[in-house]
This record gives sequence, C-alpha cells and structure tokens, in this order.
Amino acid sequence: MASTTPGLVNSHHHLYSALARGMPAPPHSPTNFREILEQIWWRLDTALDLEMLHWAAMLGAVEALESGCTAIVDHHESPNAIEGSLDVIANACAEVGVRIVASYGVTDRHGPDGARRGLEENERFIRSGGRGLVGIHAAFTCTDPTLRAAAELAAELDVGVHVHVAEGVDDIDASTRLESMSRDNWLLVHCVHLSNDAAIRGTIVHNPRSNMNNAVGYAAPTRFANPVALGSDGIGSAMLDEFQVAYARLREHSVTETPTTAWSWLEHGWALVPEAANDVVTWSYDGVDDPWRLAFTPGVRAVDVDVDGAPVVRNGTPTRVDAHEVRAKAAEQASRLFATL
Ligand SMILES: [Zn+2]
Repeated sequence: MASTTPGLVNSHHHLYSALARGMPAPPHSPTNFREILEQIWWRLDTALDLEMLHWAAMLGAVEALESGCTAIVDHHESPNAIEGSLDVIANACAEVGVRIVASYGVTDRHGPDGARRGLEENERFIRSGGRGLVGIHAAFTCTDPTLRAAAELAAELDVGVHVHVAEGVDDIDASTRLESMSRDNWLLVHCVHLSNDAAIRGTIVHNPRSNMNNAVGYAAPTRFANPVALGSDGIGSAMLDEFQVAYARLREHSVTETPTTAWSWLEHGWALVPEAANDVVTWSYDGVDDPWRLAFTPGVRAVDVDVDGAPVVRNGTPTRVDAHEVRAKAAEQASRLFATL
C-alpha cells in the first residue's frame, strides 16, 4: 500500500471563483444554465479588478496545495481588468508554489474590442514566456471570426485552445463550429451536449460536480473516443473529492463501472501537465494506489507536498505563504467585490 502519489492536476479551473462563496443572492433565482451565467458568473466577472484577482488566485492556489493538487489549468475572464490578468494569476500561483497553465477566455459578449483585448492578453502572456493555452469562453458567445482568430493564434504559438464545449443546450452547435479547427492539444471542457460521434479533437475535461450544480445533465464521458481528464470548474481543487463525485455519478449512470475509470480521468492530468508527475504528495492514508479504496475513504488529506523537489506543504500547511493571512485578505477582497454587485 502506498501513501504517496504524484501531484494531482485540476484540468479545468476558474481561480477567480474562490471569491464567489457567500456572494449576495442574484435579483431573481436562475431557472436554467443560461440564467446562472447571466445572474451569477457574468455579474461577478464584470466586477473583478486585479487586486481581487490576486487574492482569489492566492486563495485558490493555497487550497489546491492543501488538497495535494500541484497543477492548475485555469480559464479566466475579467472583462474590466483584462490586460495583465494572466500575470496576476501566474505570479500568485508561483508565490504559493503551485504550477499554473493560464488562459484568458475570449468572448464577443463585450463587443469586438473585448474579444480583441482577450486575444491579445493570451498572446502577450504566452509570448512573454508564460505557460498558457489560448482561452475561448464558448462558441455560443463568439462570432466565427473570433473563433478562427483564437484557433489561429493557438496554432501559431504552438499551444492548445481551452474552451467550454456544449456545457448547456445554448452551446449545442459548438462542435459543428469548432471541429474543423480543433487539434489534439485542445481542451474541450464539459461536452455534456456533445453528440457521441462528434469529430472534434482534443481532451475532454469532465467536471462532474459543477455539471450537477448547474443541472446541465450528465456528460457520460465513457461514450467518447477522446481522452478524458477531470476538472473542478471553479469549485476548489480537491481533486480526490472530484474523483469520488466522478465515480459516484458514473456508477449511477452504469452499475458495471468501477472507480478505476474515474481514476484514469484524474491520471490523464499528467498527460496535460507532465511536470506534475515529478511532484510528490504524501497522504494521510495508506492506500492511495487503489481507486476502490479511495472512492470510499473519506477525509484523505495531503500531509506533505513537494513540487520539483522543494517542500511547499508540511504537515498540511503551505510553507511559502501564511495561509491564515491569505484567507483574511481574500475575505476582505470578497467583501469589496460583493459591495460592487
Ligand atoms: Zn468552466
């Protein structure tokens, strides 16, 4: 029985959402996914500034390490604080000691100027040496020229595209619009309403808890030939929890399934961020090499975490930053954010 694993990978995250907990209720209760976006996430991202983003990313990075997650693939949008936002995220993660693959979600929701500035932020960050992908919010909020510009930029920079695909029914034609441009290094997030025989290329990132929370339906990732990875879609980076939810939801769908399938999705994160395979997490539980045990064992904690041989967590506590201070500062920024909503 082993008590260590490599660093876990959160293959789809929104670090800014660390500040969303406790936010004031929207003017009226959303009744579908589109309204959840409009009433909650698009109000929140519009109100973000770079200081809020810094402390959101610090908190998200601290929580990731505390959960044994050493690599985050982030998808970011802050339409009133675009320029430099990816540096703010990357710098916060570097300060805490977690690996980050950043992307800015390009969209035409804020007009062609907003789309252009989003593309430029991806390009600026990646050309200056940042580890990134070109982000697209989703096909249904983008024109065809914007989708094409993002795909061409990614190809030119030799990185993948990180895009929400068919998360809700509003985005049902995403695959038709994207498949001719798609490549194997793309990250296709959600794919709940993607047809079984869709010809879109890339890794499908499954976010079981978020999909359940948004009532968008079950993605049933086993129906696709594409590789599958696991993400939290902004609900922390406790990837062992996400694995347990992924397994429970998979098993509800098909009683002959096993935890090994859901574990293979988590393991695929190491294909996306191979460096994380060099990290070492020592867990509070002896048996982390057996998905059957892990699927049914509660409260497994990361005790020590080493990234690239350097200690970033000891006895469950991040070593490079004061986690109490990060939580206090993030709470201050959350209050400031809520006051603007
Ligand atoms: Zn997402």
